[in-house]
Amino acid sequence: MTTLTPVLSRNWDRADSFTLAAYRENGGYEALRKALTMQPDAIVDLVKASGLRGRGGAGFPTGMKWGFLPKDNPKPRYLVVNADESEPGTCKDMPLLLANPHALVEGIAIASYAINSHQAFVYVRGEVLHVIRRLRHAVAEAYEAGLLGKDILGSGFDLDVVVHAGAGAYICGEETALLDSLEGYRGQPRLKPPFPAVAGLYASPTVVNNVESIASVPSIVANGAEWFSSMGTEKSAGFGFFSLSGHVKRPGQYEAPLGVTLRELLDMAGGIRDGHRLKFWTPGGSSTPIFTEEHIDIPLDFESVGAAGSMLGTRALQIFDETTSVVRVVRGWIEFYAHESCGKCTPCREGNSWMVQVLRRIEAGKGTQEDIDTLLDICDNLLGRSFCALGDGATSSVTSAIKYFREEFTAGTHTPAWELFPYQRTTRW
Ligand code: NAD
Ligand code: SF4
Repeated sequence: MTTLTPVLSRNWDRADSFTLAAYRENGGYEALRKALTMQPDAIVDLVKASGLRGRGGAGFPTGMKWGFLPKDNPKPRYLVVNADESEPGTCKDMPLLLANPHALVEGIAIASYAINSHQAFVYVRGEVLHVIRRLRHAVAEAYEAGLLGKDILGSGFDLDVVVHAGAGAYICGEETALLDSLEGYRGQPRLKPPFPAVAGLYASPTVVNNVESIASVPSIVANGAEWFSSMGTEKSAGFGFFSLSGHVKRPGQYEAPLGVTLRELLDMAGGIRDGHRLKFWTPGGSSTPIFTEEHIDIPLDFESVGAAGSMLGTRALQIFDETTSVVRVVRGWIEFYAHESCGKCTPCREGNSWMVQVLRRIEAGKGTQEDIDTLLDICDNLLGRSFCALGDGATSSVTSAIKYFREEFTAGTHTPAWELFPYQRTTRW
């Protein structure tokens, strides 16, 4: 039986968990002190050996990404933390930043030292003003205590950190659109390669990492690579947040080893709400193909979820019981993608708005077999033909929902939303 592994969340019950004093009482910034006595390359090797993989969704090995920075490029190097969390269902980085911002600040200092960067940015989604304020407060506390700025802890290492507020565009979570936005341009994805490691912010070598990835680094430096890799599975090491939302009794953040199953997480979360049963769920946000009850025992690691036909993504587990219309949920997600499409490439710009129209027709009970074919055809023209992952991701819920619940797309039995939620009748429902 898997149990929780509260590392980043261990202090969250304290009302003052976000303060420097509370963080230090629990050994905070001791990992930074240790890291500053190590050779930078040794820290990169340590993170590689730990097996830490990016926690923003793609799961790219973090230490390997740091190792890609070219050694012979004289330009300044940058660390950019992606805190533009916006994926529907994904809600782990914001609570982490609210409750434990110093884990990120300490991780930034260690990672910057490891990659020889003297300037780091945190790009936070613009809508979360309370998170931005809290993070800025933590950064100010760290400057005051000599943990950022000049000659950190007497080591001779200098680092400045800027907390930058985005303007609320989902596409700016795509790393190259984020860099464009940070440079002051309209946020749209760049062609890759070159990857940011080679030509990123201001065309300089740049590491872009997710909040949770960087916040995990101090614990690895403090406890060692073996400690980290002893949790999780061989290829998906360590722990991570599993964010449970929807029709579950105790929604929230469950910090557990990778490889935990939904059944185990539901046990911890009190199960599905009384009198109901699981119908479908997302393993990693709305960009990942949905799963059903038959997948409840699949280990939630990158390999097992991939082998079962989905993606681990951001471990955003949105749980839906049998009262939910899968067509309505998918229509809502596709409206989101149509709204957030940056418009740069035709398949995504046109395809998502066409899918919204078809899905609205199906939801109104007027779906036909041809509509299903049209949806699958649009997905076929999006997947692998879009400029960035947004277009690919939009197809996941459509194709998987048709795979598991094909009959619902032609059944015409979707209770109108205004009957379920009369108080929302004046909204765009
Ligand atoms: P990706 O696989 O293209 O890249 C992952 C990372 O590895 C990037 O930082 C990339 O620069 C780096 N990389 C890959 N190959 C490289 C190479 N050869 N050399 C140097 N660096 C290399 O994935 P992506 O497009 O960055 O992200 C897609 C993921 O984002 C999806 O899986 C989805 O789950 C996730 N996502 C997350 C959110 C959120 O709110 N957190 C929102 C949308 C999507
Ligand atoms: Fe923009 Fe969508 Fe094309 Fe990505 S796939 S570049 S979001 S239009």
